[in-house]
Order: sequence, then structure tokens, then C-alpha cells
Amino acid sequence: MAPAGRKKVLHKIADLIEAEALALTVLGVRDNGTEINMALKAEAGSAAGTFRYYAEALDKVYGEIAPTAPNVLGLIHRDPVGVVGAIVPWNFPLMIGAWKLAPALAAGNSVVLKPAETASLSLLRLADICAEAGLPDGVLNVVTGPGHITGEALALSMDVDVLVFTGSGATGRRLLEYSARSNLKRVYLELGGKSPNVVFADAPDLDLAAKTSAMGIFRNSGQVCVAGSRLLVEASVHDDFVARVAHHAAALQVGDPLDLNSHIGAVNSETQLAGNLGFVSDAVAEGATLALGGNRILQDTGGTYMEPTIVTGVAPHHRLAQQEVFGPVLAVTPFTTDAEAITIANSTDYGLSAGVWTASLPRAHKMIRAIRAGIVHVNTYGGSDNTVPLGGVKQSGNGHDKSLHAMDKYLDLKTAWIQL
Ligand code: NAD
Repeated sequence: MAPAGRKKVLHKIADLIEAEALALTVLGVRDNGTEINMALKAEAGSAAGTFRYYAEALDKVYGEIAPTAPNVLGLIHRDPVGVVGAIVPWNFPLMIGAWKLAPALAAGNSVVLKPAETASLSLLRLADICAEAGLPDGVLNVVTGPGHITGEALALSMDVDVLVFTGSGATGRRLLEYSARSNLKRVYLELGGKSPNVVFADAPDLDLAAKTSAMGIFRNSGQVCVAGSRLLVEASVHDDFVARVAHHAAALQVGDPLDLNSHIGAVNSETQLAGNLGFVSDAVAEGATLALGGNRILQDTGGTYMEPTIVTGVAPHHRLAQQEVFGPVLAVTPFTTDAEAITIANSTDYGLSAGVWTASLPRAHKMIRAIRAGIVHVNTYGGSDNTVPLGGVKQSGNGHDKSLHAMDKYLDLKTAWIQL
């Protein structure tokens, strides 16, 4: 399809998502338990914006003419890779699905998308929307099923040229194996994080920092890949700052994700909740202190809710400081010097996101350079838009979603070398 045609279809998909944003969001919330206030923006709102961004981008990314000798012409084509396999998780299915789908379709590929088994509904509806918007039959295929069956079959397929994935590191490792065992398809992984949020005593507004840090870990019950799950606080303000974070966290209302008054919805599953509680009890057994929460919230509905939880005195080697919980559990560690903050910040296998709170411009820039992460927030936590890439370093993955850079994954370079 010519770029102008693709642009029209992608804009139409965005129009249709916006037209039924609430219904799509409710469908997703019933699957995964994310609080609806957030899901409306993060799921339907973000997905529509992503389709629009790549609709506008698709005819601004094209080939090049190389600076060769005058008797030859070196053309660099950017061709669609062919068939893209996309495997996505349950925490933000529509948003993350759109991050893969929109640039892949914009670049002229076909896609086979596999949603998570606990959150397929909004992506199945998105497939209908794409058909209604005029996407030709077969260009997008959504296949549901368990990861070890449907996901494995997709990842082993000899007909898939590129595999893009968001999910856990354990699954990411398997996908690399599947690629090696099949056709060496390129594999791009967006994995987990254990992101440090570093608060210096000279932060411009400690209360704003505390409130933002609380939301940076507790929104969507901590089931956010970039969650600021490790709070590193300069010792001189440690007790005051932790008290402020606890104050804001305690005010968050946890409950029915479809209730507009809920600040935080449900934990995704009983398994996830049991894992969260296990992390807390292990941390206490290792010598850390439970400063807030730590319990399941029992409600009449029997839903899986958990209190926002803060654990202080977490040493960098504790399990809670090293492994991703993917739940509403904040690990707090004090530091005294910039160098110590950097060492602790970089002391995990992950490198997805980070935060730095300081009024010093030089210190902020030094921290941006020193912390190994795909994104470093300064005097804020969370938030970005389609213009900037999202992805990790170290064991948080490779390749990026969002921005024009995301399109590189879905395009092959081909050289034409022409004797004149
Ligand atoms: P998961 O790895 O268990 O599942 C993700 C997807 O992979 C699901 O669709 C699942 O069915 C599929 N899958 C599972 N086993 C498979 C196999 N053997 N072969 C092929 N596919 C398989 O992860 P999850 O629990 O759904 O998601 C949580 C994880 O995702 C967390 O680690 C989180 O940090 C990460 N995450 C990362 C980002 C990011 O942008 N970096 C965003 C959101 C979530």
C-alpha cells in the first residue's frame, strides 16, 4: 500500500480508538484490574496517540543516496522486514500493543500479535477496529493462547522475520533460544526493571518529590515496567522524606478498578499477589523494616488488592533491592555521597528507568551520564511522549519502542550499487 494509503488507515484506527475509548478501556480494566482513571489515558488515549504519531511519521522515514564516486550510484533502501511477530504482556496491553503495531504497520509490514493470556480482550477488539479502518485482511492477525504454546509457536515460526517482545526476562531468554533454533529472526526485548529513584537533600520541592515518588511506584499497583521501585534517599533527609512518601501513599484509595474514586486498582492475579507478599516477608527476614502496608486488602468481592507498601533499611544486596517485584512495594535505601548513590543505582542487572531529584544542574547532568538506564527523569518521575524512545540497557532489554527510532526495528536496509 502506498504511504498515503497507510497514513489514512492508521489515522482512521486512531479515530475509531478515540470514538470508543471508554468501552475499550473498560474491556481492558476488566481483564487486568488497572485503575480506570489511569487506564483511560494510558491505554486508549496512548494507543490512539501512538497510531497518529506513526501515521504522521511514515512518509518522513525513507532511503538515502550515499556520497560515492561520481561513476557509481549507491542507494540505501529502507524495506519493510516482512512479517513481524509481537508478544505483549498484561499490564498495559493496548498501549504496549500499539507501540509495536503502529510502527510495524506504518513501515509496511504484516503483524501477528499475541496478547497475554490474562489480557486479550482489548487487543482482540483493536483487531476489529483495524479491519473497520480499512487495514487489508491478513495484515494484522491476533492469536490468543498460553505463552508456552501460542507464543512459542510464533517465536519458532520460520515465516516470522522479526520478533518484538515486552515481558519478563525469563521469557526474553527463551525467545532468543527460539530464534537460534529456528530462522535466526531478529529479537527485540523490552524487559523488566528495578529502577532507582534518587532523592538528594537539595531537591527543589521535597513534598512534590515525595508525592511523585509515591505515584512512581504505586500506580497500577506497581505493575509498571518503569516503576521507581528503589528509593535512594540522602541520609540527611531520609526520615523526613520517607514520612512524606508514606503520608501520600497512605492516602491512596485502593479498590475496585472501575470505581472512579479508586486511585489504585487490583493486583493482576493471586499468583502475582502471593509473590508480592513473599518479597515483603523475605525483606523483613533479611533485616529490613516494614514502614507501611505489607498486607493484602480483603474486600467483599474477593479481589486481589494490596496495600501500598514501604520497606526501609533495604541493603543493596537484599532480594528486594535486586529483583523486580512488579507489585506495590517500595524498597528504601539511604546514601551519603553522590558516588555512593551512583554505585547503588547501578548495582542491579537492570537498566530501564531512573529518577534524580536535585536543584543542582551540574549534579543532574552528572547523574544522567553516570546512571545506566534507558531513561533518567529529573525532578519528575514517569511521563514521556511518543517523541522519545523507551527501552532499556543491561538485562532490561534492547531495542526501543516509541519515537522515530522504533521504526528501525521494522525496516531492513538494502544497498543498490549502480555503475553509471
Ligand atoms: P511474561 O514474560 O510472563 O509474559 C509476556 C508475554 O510473553 C505474554 O504474552 C506471555 O503469554 C508470553 N510468553 C510467556 N512464555 C512464553 C514462551 N515460552 N514463549 C513465547 N511467549 C511466551 O511477562 P508478564 O508477566 O506478562 O509481564 C510482566 C513483565 O513485563 C515484567 O517483567 C515487566 O517489567 C515487563 N514489562 C516491560 C515493559 C518494558 O517496556 N520494558 C513494559 C511492561 C512490562
